[in-house]
Amino acid sequence: MQLVFATNNLNKLKEVQSLIPKHIQLLSLKDIGCFDDVPETQLTIKGNAIQKAEYIKTHYGFDCFADDTGLEVEALNGEPGVFSARYAGAQRDANDNTNLLLKNLKDKSNRNAQFKTVIALHLNNKLETFTGICKGEITTTKHGTGGFGYDPIFKANGYDHTFAEITLEEKNNIGHRGKAVRLLVAYLNNL
Ligand code: IMP
Repeated sequence: MQLVFATNNLNKLKEVQSLIPKHIQLLSLKDIGCFDDVPETQLTIKGNAIQKAEYIKTHYGFDCFADDTGLEVEALNGEPGVFSARYAGAQRDANDNTNLLLKNLKDKSNRNAQFKTVIALHLNNKLETFTGICKGEITTTKHGTGGFGYDPIFKANGYDHTFAEITLEEKNNIGHRGKAVRLLVAYLNNL
């Protein structure tokens, strides 16, 4: 089976590829010749995942899945949430985003946060969604150089290290995207 993963994020591709069974050949947007700025203009994480999957199906005709992820911080009423990529501005810079989040949480003792990933699958003219959540806390400074995005300032519950300090395998085991992908894989295996 061939399935398009509607992303240009090589980090995500690497994470997801390592979890997908070998008989499913994963194609990236580049592989199908899509270099569009795929729209994600919805007000929810789930809405954006669905919008991206539907865009690829409509414009390129491929069965596909898309993911959208947000970091929801309790003391900031769930922000940055759906705006996680553009938290510090349209430049979508991970360093700027993490710096702004640390600044906005400077005087807060409640550091609770969760990553939420929603995967939308467009397959055989049916749409399904799968949600993965990872609860944890925002550190006070950055730690580690691995991963991407907010990883250097997020520690999963029960872990002493941030997502930027653990291996890809560990992150996949406990992380939001890993959880959502495992639900997707279980669904595909049951077809
Ligand atoms: P999107 O799902 O690519 O739209 O990601 C939204 C924002 O969350 C971006 O700023 C990403 O860098 C960040 N993000 C997505 N997934 C992760 C992750 O697994 N760890 C850290 N940051 C992430």
